[in-house]
Amino acid sequence: MDTQEQRIKIAVQKTGRLTEHSLHLLERCGLKVTRSKDQLICYGENMPVDLLLVRDDDIPGLVSDDICDLGIVGLNVAEEKRQKLKQDGTQTGYKKVFDLDFGHCRLSIATEEGTPYSGATDLQGKRIATSYVATVQNFLNEEGIEAEIIYLSGAVEIAPKLGKAEFICDLVSTGSTLKANNLIEVETLLKSEAVVIQTREPLSHIKQEWVDKILQRLDGVLQVRESKYIMLHAPRAALDRISELLPGSEYPTVIPLDGQGDKVAVHAVCRENVFWETLENLKAAGASSLLVLPVEKMLA
Ligand code: ATP
Ligand code: ZN
Repeated sequence: MDTQEQRIKIAVQKTGRLTEHSLHLLERCGLKVTRSKDQLICYGENMPVDLLLVRDDDIPGLVSDDICDLGIVGLNVAEEKRQKLKQDGTQTGYKKVFDLDFGHCRLSIATEEGTPYSGATDLQGKRIATSYVATVQNFLNEEGIEAEIIYLSGAVEIAPKLGKAEFICDLVSTGSTLKANNLIEVETLLKSEAVVIQTREPLSHIKQEWVDKILQRLDGVLQVRESKYIMLHAPRAALDRISELLPGSEYPTVIPLDGQGDKVAVHAVCRENVFWETLENLKAAGASSLLVLPVEKMLA
């Protein structure tokens, strides 16, 4: 069953901001790969899963064209490809399945300090330098604005200084690059983070089973990230109040304590972080012997 065609291929950024997080995430799903830096493919040792290490810009295309079954990429890149395909009249061959809560940034329009801007109409007839041509074009279409888009593959932020454009549209996270170039952010087109995309092509039964298994494990990894297991003792009479205070927990397990009268032990998975304040409130509500533990794995 482990023939080349039956192996799952996941596209991951080769070197860049998403690489380490992406590989760590897959490792937490139980995947073991041997990785050498200049290799394009990493073969999975314990699952029929291989990783294609590529430039992030190529990832949506690889998944769309069914060369890879899954991909981990910034939403900004996935969205740019989707808009590009839409403008070419082609249907996108992938769908987003998970937000991954890393690689946070936003795609924003910025301009030199002092340039008047009170809304999208101020872009009319102006030049916008960007690597995100399709996303910017879609924004302009939606706003009914005509402006010239100047494609630049890098160093977009110096375009205004060089007199190439009045505006730029680029990724921003802390804003320090903009500041260093005397630019201010005036419009956010997209809030982005790393996402998992999946091919829309139907898969063979065996491949589908593995893809489902990987997605289920990914879901488990994402869910436990903030989750904690909490244990405490409490008088039975305080149970309602204590259940209310437990953050993001649905059904606490209540266990009688031998020889302790009406005292019970309460165990619960909290799907949010548990802060000192919560513990203090639980204690004030009658809880004692409080213990908070990290959750390693979860399978719903
Ligand atoms: P590649 O060689 O793979 O094309 P790249 O230079 O396009 O690499 P990186 O700079 O590694 O890509 O960024 C990858 C992704 O990280 C971006 O597409 C975006 O989703 C995310 N990201 C998060 N913060 C930032 C930021 N401040 N600047 C750029 N990208 C960011
Ligand atoms: Zn790139």
